[in-house]
Amino acid sequence: MWFVKITSMNKTKVLTEIYDSLFNFFGRQYWWPGDTDFEVVIGAILTQNTNWTNVEKAIMNLKAANIFTPRKLYEIDVESLAELIKPSGYFNVKTKRLKHFIEWLFLNYNGNLSDLFKLDYDMLRDQLLSVNGIGRETADSIILYAAKKATFVVDAYTKRVLVRHGVVTEDYEYEAIKSVFEDNLRKDVSFYNEYHALIVMVGKFYCKPRMQCEECPLKDVYRVHQDELPVSADASGIQVGKRRAGQKIKARKYESGKIK
Ligand code: SF4
Repeated sequence: MWFVKITSMNKTKVLTEIYDSLFNFFGRQYWWPGDTDFEVVIGAILTQNTNWTNVEKAIMNLKAANIFTPRKLYEIDVESLAELIKPSGYFNVKTKRLKHFIEWLFLNYNGNLSDLFKLDYDMLRDQLLSVNGIGRETADSIILYAAKKATFVVDAYTKRVLVRHGVVTEDYEYEAIKSVFEDNLRKDVSFYNEYHALIVMVGKFYCKPRMQCEECPLKDVYRVHQDELPVSADASGIQVGKRRAGQKIKARKYESGKIK
């Protein structure tokens, strides 16, 4: 059995191979679904802990009620807003988050997203993370898909795929996983846009808690042996494999220039 230490160079190779395999299989994803930057921002806040179909219903309600502008969301009362976004789930929490964001936007940027997005990347991220209810994944989604600045979006699917392919271990947290991508791949908005969207596809359809490797487009990419992955929950509550403490990652050997 071979044991391979995942070096920085190998990470670049594995991450590139993951991207190429996913892109060849799924094709371009045309993310983020949304007509305007404002819609991307609202969608990013509403999509926390729910699926996109429910977010679409909530956004349709907001549009049908003719309040889908920063000013009108600022003015609408909390109860009416909660009723409109009910389909997105956790609507009381999300109503507060939307209101916090919109009020903060008016207080600091006159309700103007384009003024906010003029900030450089570091400042923009700090600013978004200072808003009550906006966490790292939401902030990075807004920065990448609305402000169109290069930042890698990490979600539970990302961690699961990377753990199973031996690129990170389960103790990696959000910022460490993000750095793995950003330190080993070119910083490019459209590349990061596509990469995150493709990970969501493989996570939804193949890399589930019970993985479906045989049909998966990543079946030929280096991965950690299944018997090395006793199931445990990751920080997001999604089941991913966990390497036992002190255990080395077993890798299949290189053949034909590919890591298997
Ligand atoms: S299902 Fe298997 S091959 Fe596909 S991403 Fe998950 S671990 Fe990799």
